[in-house]
Amino acid sequence: MSPHILDNALGAVGNTPLIRLDKVAAQLGLKCNLLAKVEFISVGGSIKDRIAKAMIEAAEKEGKLIPGQSVVIEPTSGNTGIGMAMACAIKGYRCIITLPNKMSLEKEAALRALGAEVVRTPTEAAWDSPESHIGVAKKLQRKIPGGIILDQYRNVNNPLIHETTTGPEIIKAVVSTPSTAERPSSGKVDVVVCGAGTGGTITGVSRAIKKIHNKECIMVGVDPKGSILALPETLNTAEDGAQYVVEGIGYDFIPDVLSRDPENVDTWVKTGDEESFAAVRVLMRSEGLLVGGSSGSALSGAEKWFKSEAGKRVAQTEGLNVVLILADGIRNYMSKPWFLSMALEAEPSELAGNIADALKDE
Ligand code: PMP
Repeated sequence: MSPHILDNALGAVGNTPLIRLDKVAAQLGLKCNLLAKVEFISVGGSIKDRIAKAMIEAAEKEGKLIPGQSVVIEPTSGNTGIGMAMACAIKGYRCIITLPNKMSLEKEAALRALGAEVVRTPTEAAWDSPESHIGVAKKLQRKIPGGIILDQYRNVNNPLIHETTTGPEIIKAVVSTPSTAERPSSGKVDVVVCGAGTGGTITGVSRAIKKIHNKECIMVGVDPKGSILALPETLNTAEDGAQYVVEGIGYDFIPDVLSRDPENVDTWVKTGDEESFAAVRVLMRSEGLLVGGSSGSALSGAEKWFKSEAGKRVAQTEGLNVVLILADGIRNYMSKPWFLSMALEAEPSELAGNIADALKDE
């Protein structure tokens, strides 16, 4: 966080903390360090604030966005939309977001509160059909004067902003924390575990770390069951075409951002809804982190990877640094049944008895 006065909310995008997950590490029997890059601290509540700001500012510099004329239209699973709506509110652009039906009401409410217009689209529509969030955005662009899609699935500023901010922030935090007898550290980022949607985060962070810091760093991509982003393709057959509840990760096509340089991801793991949501609960109850569903996927993906050959070696080596990227916060999902059932589940009966006793009239 900047110690100076900021010009506007866009100055509070990114610059998020790296936080030790010591209790989770102990529960998993890890000797390595488990660290979390906590992105809900960013001003709009997610890692996607970074790309929204970067894509809009780049388009302004290139003269593609004209104040008072341009209409920013973007297909998104919500978080990029919130970042864009925030930037458009500040800069004075009209903003239209196309959002698949499965995405939470909280995201739609945040978008509308920021002044964006929201068009819901059928979740089951294939990405290249005219009804999908991408198809509808294209139609709006054709019909609305001044309409422009900055296109997070293709835009080079998506991975680039992670290469210039997210990655270097992680490196700086690790390098500047001294190794001590109590908390040994290799001084390097050894592994990063990261969910993929557009693939911008994993590609950009990978580039930053491999180019300027540690080319041996292992980048682990996490892809939900039902999505087809993982490689080798055989990983994706298990629940082909199945719908999953986790938001923001996985697709039914490979975005250009990801396919342009697939070598940035060293290995992939698949995660299911249930294990992801169970991992969210662990992050809340053990570490006090109010994270969203895809953050649970990152932790549950890491847990799976620690069972692989390479993962076992890392897990048992003191001082190695494994970083999980936790992309957004639970405030995006407060009305979702998976969260409510977890949060409001019955407390242990002894505790309930205790409270009842304490409240009795003397
Ligand atoms: N988690 C959440 C909650 C997201 O909204 C997104 C972005 N769709 C991601 C993870 C994945 O980020 P990326 O698009 O950079 O792969």
